[in-house]
Amino acid sequence: MYDVLIIGGGPSGIAAGVYAARKQLRAVLVAEEIGGQSSVSEGIENWIGTTKISGADLAKAFKTHLDAVKNDIVTLATGERIVSLAKTDGGTFLAKTKTGKEFSAKAVLLASGAGRRKLDVPGAQKFENKGVTYCASCDGPLFGGMDVAVIGGGNAGFETALQLLAYAKSVTLIHRHQEFKADPVTIEKASAHPNMRIIRHAETVAVMGEQFVTGLKYVDKNSNETKELAVSGLFVEAGVIPNTEFVEGLVELDAVKRVKTDPRNQRTSVEGVWAAGDCTDELYHQNNIAAGDGVKALEDIYLWIKKQ
Ligand SMILES: Cc1cc2nc3c(=O)[nH]c(=O)nc-3n(C[C@H](O)[C@H](O)[C@H](O)COP(=O)(O)OP(=O)(O)OC[C@H]3O[C@@H](n4cnc5c(N)ncnc54)[C@H](O)[C@@H]3O)c2cc1C
Repeated sequence: MYDVLIIGGGPSGIAAGVYAARKQLRAVLVAEEIGGQSSVSEGIENWIGTTKISGADLAKAFKTHLDAVKNDIVTLATGERIVSLAKTDGGTFLAKTKTGKEFSAKAVLLASGAGRRKLDVPGAQKFENKGVTYCASCDGPLFGGMDVAVIGGGNAGFETALQLLAYAKSVTLIHRHQEFKADPVTIEKASAHPNMRIIRHAETVAVMGEQFVTGLKYVDKNSNETKELAVSGLFVEAGVIPNTEFVEGLVELDAVKRVKTDPRNQRTSVEGVWAAGDCTDELYHQNNIAAGDGVKALEDIYLWIKKQ
């Protein structure tokens, strides 16, 4: 029986793991991988204390930091996916993984973050990995010298466009709204590139292709006309969905399945369960915020455990 089970190895889970070690709470951190969503980023420029770090290096730094402090207080179980979490009659929690492992703990911190929202139009699934991709840093170089499109006008969309501009012949970013959600500095950087094109207020409605993607169809929402764009690659950055399926029915979720939390202490609707970072209903999703949430939760878990 652990004091605390931390589910997730992104910034929120790792921050909580480091604090658990420092506070001598017997913890187990279960995660599919260490690093979290921005591990695929070419360069993160707002992780406080560093001017620029690649996502891969940030993930390594997380692991190094946790390894340096964990001693025999924090156990690391990576490569494991939690598939169910239940409260037992005794008031403790039991989690099961896909491989059949079980973890029991007095308290649980949900730090399971979020995953990519898939493009839900005809052809998108058929051409996944045949031109439709969700990872620019993984697949971008395959599209050197080609015309490609990015779907999504948030930071991830513009960051993806910037990465692709390094080798693609042209990058067309398609955004369904008139206004962008991305930071102005990122928008300006991408817009200034001669090979960058932006189509606003447009809804992608189909992916076309034969063996591989040859283009896409979109509706220009200003004129209601359906138009075609010839591209060989389609990079989807259409937002994220929270990794909360294993707590459905246990804790209260909002309409888009994010865990409802008290922002003062990260408590959820269930005594003994906390949540931090992108799996929660907080408004802003960033590495620094996720790490701060993890710290806040662990401070509260520590006091709660000491009172038990
Ligand atoms: C491409 C990209 C670039 C970004 N760039 C920036 C940036 O420059 N700056 C910035 O501040 N933010 C950036 N973000 C956002 C930032 O990455 C997130 O806000 C942050 O990672 C959230 O951290 P988290 O700990 O809540 O969850 P995540 O990072 O999502 O980590 C979730 C963790 O939980 C694990 N997990 C999930 N489900 C389970 C399960 N069932 N069982 C076990 N483990 C599970 C995962 O393996 C992972 O370890 C970027 C995001 C993306 C996608």
